[in-house]
Amino acid sequence: PETITVQELANRMAERGGEVVKTLMKLGVMVTINQTIDADTAELVVEEFGHKLRRVSDSDVEIGMRGDPDDDSNLEPRAPVVTVMGHVDHGKTSLLDALRASDVVAQEAGGITQHIGAYQVHLASGQSITFIDTPGHAAFTEMRARGANVTDIVVLVVAADDGIMEQTVEAINHAKAAQVPIIVAINKMDKPEANPDRVKQELLSHDLVVEEMGGEIIAIPVSAKTREGLPDLEEAIQLQAEILELKANALRAAEGVVVEARLEQGRGSVATVLVQRGTLRMGDVFVTGNEWGRVRALINDRGERVEEAGPSIPVEVTGLQGTPHAGDDFVVVEDETKAREISEFRSEAKRQSDMARSGRGSLEQMLSKI
Ligand code: GDP
Ligand code: MG
Repeated sequence: PETITVQELANRMAERGGEVVKTLMKLGVMVTINQTIDADTAELVVEEFGHKLRRVSDSDVEIGMRGDPDDDSNLEPRAPVVTVMGHVDHGKTSLLDALRASDVVAQEAGGITQHIGAYQVHLASGQSITFIDTPGHAAFTEMRARGANVTDIVVLVVAADDGIMEQTVEAINHAKAAQVPIIVAINKMDKPEANPDRVKQELLSHDLVVEEMGGEIIAIPVSAKTREGLPDLEEAIQLQAEILELKANALRAAEGVVVEARLEQGRGSVATVLVQRGTLRMGDVFVTGNEWGRVRALINDRGERVEEAGPSIPVEVTGLQGTPHAGDDFVVVEDETKAREISEFRSEAKRQSDMARSGRGSLEQMLSKI
C-alpha cells in the first residue's frame, strides 16, 4: 500500500509538521514526524486541513496526494549538514574558519568568502560538507523549537586543555534530544597542557564512549591553530555521512529551511536558505514561515550569483515580501496566488493564536486579582 511520512505530507501541504502530528492525534493516530502513515489516513489529514484551509483549492490537495515527486529512483547522495557546538572559547569559530579555509574550490577562486550563516566545504575527494555557521546553541535550539531538523551531524568541540564544561554538556543534551550523531573534535592539541585522555574520560560520564574505549564515538584530536587533524575530522564526517545514507531528490520543487534572515538596506528582506530537497531556481515562488516571495537573486557562500541551488546547498535568497525567522520552513509553490493564500492563512492563524494567548494571560491576571 502507498505510504507517506508525516514530514513529507506536511511539506506537500506547506504546513508545519507539528500541526500535522496534532491533527493526526485528533484522529487518534499517534505518530512522530518521521513515521509513515498510509494513503487513507493521509487523505483524512488532507481533508482535515482542506476543511480548515478553505482557500486552498482541491487541486492543491491532489498534488499533495498523487505525489510524483519523491520517487526513490530519483534519490541521490547529498552532502551532510553539520553544526559545530561546544563551550565558549573552546574554538568553534576558529575551527569553522579553519575548515572553511580548507575548501579546495575557494582556494582556486581566490578565497573570497562571505558570511551567510552556512557554507560548503569542497574536499579534495570531490565530496563536500555543509557547515551551519551561525554561532552556538541558540541557532540549533531555535530551529529545533520551530520543528526544523537541519543538522545531520553535530561536531562537539572540546578544548583539550579545559575539558567538558557547562555548555559542552548542554550541547551533548541538545544533540541527544535531536538524535543527531556526535563527532568529538578535541581542539587546541597544540597547547602543552592538552590532555585528550582526560577529555575522553569525562565524555564517559555523559554516556559518550569513544572508540578507543570500546564505544562508538569518534574523537579526533585537532588544532584549529596549526590545522593538525582537520583532514581526519573531515574524513570522520564523511564516514558518518555514508553510514547515515543521506539522500535527496534534486528534481522536485525546492524545500528547505531558513538559517538566517534579516532586513537589509537596499536589498530588502534577505534569507539564507538551506535547500533540503529539490532545486531552488531564479523566479521560483515560495512560502516561508508567514511570508512569501519570488526568487529575485540567489547568492552562494562565496558571494557569487548562481542560477540554482540543490540539496544541502546554502544560498542567500532575495525577493521576499517580509522577513522570516531562522528555522522557518521554505517551500516552493506553484504560483503567487497559492503563495499569498498560504501566507495569509498562516498569518491569520498566528494572529488567532497570539490573541488566544494574550486572552488567556488577561484571564489569569483577572483571576489572580480575585
Ligand atoms: P568559540 O567561543 O568556541 O567560538 O572559540 P573561538 O574560536 O573564538 O576561540 C577562543 C580562543 O581560543 C581564541 O583566542 C582562539 O584563538 C583560541 N583557539 C581556538 N582554537 C585554538 C587552537 O586550536 N589552539 C590554540 N592554541 N588556540 C585556539
Ligand atoms: Mg565563537
